[in-house]
Amino acid sequence: DRPPFPVQNGYLGCPTTVNNVETLATATQILNHGSAWFRAMGTPVSAGTKLLSVSGDCDRPGIYEVEWGLTLNGLLDLVGAKDTLAVQVGGASGQCLSEAGFGRKLCYSDLATGGSIIIFNKTRDIFSIVRNFLDFFIEESCGWCTPCRAGNVLIKNKFEKIVSGLGTASDLAEIEAWGKLIKATSRCGLGQTSPNPVLTTLTNFREVYEKKINKETDFRSEFDLARSVEQACQVTGRKFEEEREDA
Ligand code: SF4
Repeated sequence: DRPPFPVQNGYLGCPTTVNNVETLATATQILNHGSAWFRAMGTPVSAGTKLLSVSGDCDRPGIYEVEWGLTLNGLLDLVGAKDTLAVQVGGASGQCLSEAGFGRKLCYSDLATGGSIIIFNKTRDIFSIVRNFLDFFIEESCGWCTPCRAGNVLIKNKFEKIVSGLGTASDLAEIEAWGKLIKATSRCGLGQTSPNPVLTTLTNFREVYEKKINKETDFRSEFDLARSVEQACQVTGRKFEEEREDA
């Protein structure tokens, strides 16, 4: 089972406040310079600066302190990113944005983030990115509640069906419906945010998914008998066409 939250039962069993270094360092600066100095930076809603941990496809990955309100385009220039396909804002639980969203601002009223920024250039495969995040959440689920434990496995299976070319529009709709259900019914933040990578890529890279699905039918079985027989024939060294004629 999950341990209690520190504010309820922390150090030596007492209620404990846990803050990260960024918060303590910022509080020190506000005490030194005053709140007006701090509020002069950032946006009216998101005052001050934010530490960003930038990784992925760029010339200068690292930790950056920027004013809230910086656009993703501004950040990509700052870190030397070129030919960017996607930016994952807020870590695995965050949003995967396409070029159409690079004008958006990092701030609480637009792109809120704990600080993780992962950049993917155009040599990357969007399905590989999503698969990696799906595997992460399946691995990290503690298994306490069904939507998170089973739902993410079902979404992964459906996702692989689409990637393999067997998906239809109804599969895309089911992934979206299941993702919303997992977000609404999971017990903790991990489960509640686990469908974000697949849901945000379904929104922001819709055309990539649309290219994969079969538009002539609304349903196709996940199990492809012909493909399975062909694979079995390859393993056994028998000819696929001969098998079909014998059948
Ligand atoms: S949402 Fe996932 S990680 Fe959180 S309690 Fe439920 S099963 Fe565990």
